[in-house]
Amino acid sequence: RVYPLHSSFVPTFNMAVNLLNSSDADTARTTLDRSFAQWEANASAERLHNRMNELETALKGYEEAFHCEHGDFAEFLQLRMKLKEAQHDQRRKLKHTLFHTDAERTAAFKALDDVIANLREAERTHPCAGCADIQQHLRWGYHWIREHKELDQVRERYESRTGSVARTFDHICDVLYSLDYLQSEDSSQNQILHLTERGQLLRRLYNELDIVFAEAICEGIFNNLSPLELLSCLSALVYESRGPAGGEPRRYPGGKDGAIFNTVLRMKELFMRTSALCADAHLPALRPLEFGAVDIMYDWANGADLAEILRNTDSTGGDFVRQAKRLIDLLTQLFAAGEYLQSIDGVDKNLSSCAYEAAKLLNRGVVAYSDV
Ligand SMILES: [Zn+2]
Repeated sequence: RVYPLHSSFVPTFNMAVNLLNSSDADTARTTLDRSFAQWEANASAERLHNRMNELETALKGYEEAFHCEHGDFAEFLQLRMKLKEAQHDQRRKLKHTLFHTDAERTAAFKALDDVIANLREAERTHPCAGCADIQQHLRWGYHWIREHKELDQVRERYESRTGSVARTFDHICDVLYSLDYLQSEDSSQNQILHLTERGQLLRRLYNELDIVFAEAICEGIFNNLSPLELLSCLSALVYESRGPAGGEPRRYPGGKDGAIFNTVLRMKELFMRTSALCADAHLPALRPLEFGAVDIMYDWANGADLAEILRNTDSTGGDFVRQAKRLIDLLTQLFAAGEYLQSIDGVDKNLSSCAYEAAKLLNRGVVAYSDV
C-alpha cells in the first residue's frame, strides 16, 4: 500500500499497526526509517544521503592522493583540525563565557592552553610531520579537511531527521497501547507488541484521522444510525472546507434532538479526548473534524439536486464530487472491516452493512460517473 504524501512525513496510527502486525518494534522502526528515506526522495533526506555518499567517495580519493609512506596522514590532518578548532573556536567561546571569578577565568584559559600545547606537540612529533612531500600531501589535505567537516554536518542533519521518525513511532505505540490497540508481551530480550482486535480493525482504516475513526467505532458512537445518518456524520473525517477549518453545516438534519446532532456531539468530545492524548504523547496535532458537509452529503444521498444543494455553500461541483468519493471510500473501508467489527464488544453488528447501504446512496449521478 502506498501511503499518501503529506507536507511532512508523519507516521500514522494505521501505519504503526500495519508494521507491527508483521514485525517486531525494532524492525518496524527500521522499516519506517527506510520508507521515510523513500518519501524524502522529493525532499531533502535523499539529497543529504547522496551528498554523504559523494563526500565519502571524495574523501577516499583524497586519502589515496595524500597517501604517506611515513604514517597515517589522515590522523595527522585530524590533529591539525583539532588544533585549529582549539585555537580559534574554543578560545572565542571562552572569551564570551561569563565567569564568577577571575581565578576561574584564568584556570579555563590555562586548561585550553594546555590542550593546545599537547596537540601542537602531537602534531610536531607525528611520523608524517617530517615527510619531504608534506606540502604536496597538504594540498589534498585541505580539501579533505573541508569535506570532512561538511560530511559531519550533513550526517548530523540526516540522523536528526531519521531519528525523529522513529521517536514519533514510539510515541504512537504508547498511545496505541494505552487505548488497547496493542498488547505487550515481555520476552527475555525485548518487549514484543501484538495487535489486539482493535488493532486489527485499525489496520483496515485509512484516513488522516484513523485513530479517531477507530475510537468512534469501538466506543459505539455509530451504533444504531441509519445509513443516511452514518454518512452525514462520517463526512467530518473527509471534508475539507475552503474557508477556515472547524466550520458547521447550515443545518443538522433531524435538528438538535436528532441522531446526527447527538452523534456529532459525541464525536467532538471524543476528538478533544484523543487530541489531548496525542498532545501528552508529543505527537503532532490531529487535523480537526469538519462538519461543514454534514447537510450537503445528507441531501445528496437523500436524492436532492446538486445545483440546489450547493447554492448556499462555498463548495464547487468538483470539490463536492471529490469529497463524496472520499466518503464512499471511507464507508467501503468500514464495510470491508466487517469481520473485525464482529469481534469487538459493544459495536453494532449491523454497522458494516449500514456502511454498505450508505455508500450505495452516495454513489449516484455525477458522483457515480465522474472520474476525479
Ligand atoms: Zn609523506
